[in-house]
Amino acid sequence: MIVMKFGGTSVRDCEAVGRLIGIVKGSSPQKTVVVVSALAGVTDSLIKIAGFASGGKADDASVLSAGLEERHIIMADQLLAGNELLVNETKESVKHLFSKLNEIIRVISVLEELSDMSMAKILSYGEILSSTIIHKAILNTGIKCAYADARSMIITDSHYLKGEPQTDAICKKVPELLSEKFMDNDVVITQGFIGATAEGAGTTLGRGGSDYSAALIGMAANADEIQIWTDVDGVHTTDPRKVDSTRSISVMSFSEAAELSFFGAKVLHPATIQPAVEKNIPVRVLNSMEPEKQGTLILSDDQVHENGVKAISFKENITVVNVFSTKMLNSFGFLTRLFEVFGKYGTSVDLISTSEVNVSLTVDPESKLDEIIAELSHFAVVSVSREKSQVSVVGKNLRETTGLAKRIFSAVSDYNITMISQGASDINVSFVVNRGDLSAVVNSLHKEFFE
Ligand code: ADP
Ligand code: ASP
Ligand code: MG
Repeated sequence: MIVMKFGGTSVRDCEAVGRLIGIVKGSSPQKTVVVVSALAGVTDSLIKIAGFASGGKADDASVLSAGLEERHIIMADQLLAGNELLVNETKESVKHLFSKLNEIIRVISVLEELSDMSMAKILSYGEILSSTIIHKAILNTGIKCAYADARSMIITDSHYLKGEPQTDAICKKVPELLSEKFMDNDVVITQGFIGATAEGAGTTLGRGGSDYSAALIGMAANADEIQIWTDVDGVHTTDPRKVDSTRSISVMSFSEAAELSFFGAKVLHPATIQPAVEKNIPVRVLNSMEPEKQGTLILSDDQVHENGVKAISFKENITVVNVFSTKMLNSFGFLTRLFEVFGKYGTSVDLISTSEVNVSLTVDPESKLDEIIAELSHFAVVSVSREKSQVSVVGKNLRETTGLAKRIFSAVSDYNITMISQGASDINVSFVVNRGDLSAVVNSLHKEFFE
């Protein structure tokens, strides 16, 4: 059995869904789970709709919702043309879903209040709509395909907008539901991104979470392979939107892929690799627009032997927090206290660099910084530098690669580099640059290592 995840651009319109169906057909006779995202841009639109509604702008929310409804109706019409029964049935389902969504929007615009729980509910419509239509389009080609609701198998805690998957429950529910659905079908389609608490309240796995859904399903169902179908032919040497001359990496290790995605490469959600590691399931990243290209195969660390720099990732917008305490000199427990504060506000720290009296840390800009600073100020002096970017050079055995630091820092010697850190895992060297220098820095590094 294989799991195939199709991202937003891979289901954006009829042509894309046509390609998806061709790819699914090609996987026969293997049983296949198809995990779909919302159509490209739909999650962003739903966020806007929720914003309008909670700001009391019911009319703006309705206009946007009507546009989305029309887009989905047109898609159903075009995909199922010629099968009147199926077209009508699908359009009815779409209309029904929009009437429920509009009801929620109305309530929110009256209350002018938007809880995380309501937001998760609104966001779920993107994936429910895409999977409903694509399910019918697959059926229409004669493939035996069942529909499964991800909310009855992807069980999370009650962080509604970034639910923590409950692995034990998922490993129980996924095989139960899939074996029932596969009894009379060759393909099962379900939604990425969404889940539910054990009590049944809808949650999401966070932005870009469909990759993670696919990996969780793959792990729980003991899949032979997890395929991430996207708009690039695999993991590249860096983001092709930043550098023109990137190339696809044919093989990389779980650790390298995990590190790359954790340090900013959007091609994979940062949590995607962990479930695959759990059961040692190969992950393939493939281009739905050019399915014949080989893409990237991600394998366990002991199967990948090539040392040296494999790729460059970056986080375009990070914030550096500088914590200064004169008492740190010879004092115990300062770092413990420091990290307790970040932990209390659920903020993860990426890079750390310390001196005798100073600690600098990088965090995402949307972290609860005001609260964190207020609390740190009880025992330290804090300053914050914004408009920074973090760059990571990733590859196997970097610590043992003689001359690596010289190559990296010669390539970027024209720029101000701070907070240099060699990853504890030995597969990354990271540092911070001014955001305005990011493009130039990444291009110089790419030239040094890959051109
Ligand atoms: P999907 O909608 O299929 O999930 P995403 O937009 O989330 O697609 O991820 C694909 C994008 O990731 C690419 O278009 C590319 O711009 C970006 N990206 C960032 N870093 C890399 C990288 N190292 N290799 C390939 N793509 C990358
Ligand atoms: N639709 C969701 C998002 O845009 C999940 C995903 O595409 O992975 O974030
Ligand atoms: Mg994505």
